[in-house]
Amino acid sequence: MEYKYRLTARPVVPSILPPGGLIRADLCFDKPCPDSGWGITVYDRPLTEEETNEYHLGIVSGPQPRPKHPRGIILRNCAKCLACGDTVESLSVHDFVTCSCGNLSVDGGNDYLKRSVKDFSKYLDLSVTYYPQLSEPED
Ligand SMILES: [Zn+2]
Repeated sequence: MEYKYRLTARPVVPSILPPGGLIRADLCFDKPCPDSGWGITVYDRPLTEEETNEYHLGIVSGPQPRPKHPRGIILRNCAKCLACGDTVESLSVHDFVTCSCGNLSVDGGNDYLKRSVKDFSKYLDLSVTYYPQLSEPED
């Protein structure tokens, strides 16, 4: 089974691709190729959603990674820590924000909802996600 991904951003040497499982990569450094964009990479494993986000990879073929949250357009990426009362919000992909007591961190901005929580009983998610296709089943 091969899993193929297309680079959606210009590759930058050296750490341009997720490590592990890489079968082959055909990259374009100077200008995007007409049919393959900035390059095509092939893996023997499915990449995680974090990896495809981190490395700007779009899925060409192979099973979709199972998202941790149903797909939607993230309007606000924020959560409240009930231990210290702070509300923290991630405003961009690599904006990692932690509350003042350290119980809760949010990350991912408008791209994906990432949470790091020590005590889930003291955590309230306040993120707002818009689902354009509510009629579509979420597998
Ligand atoms: Zn806190």
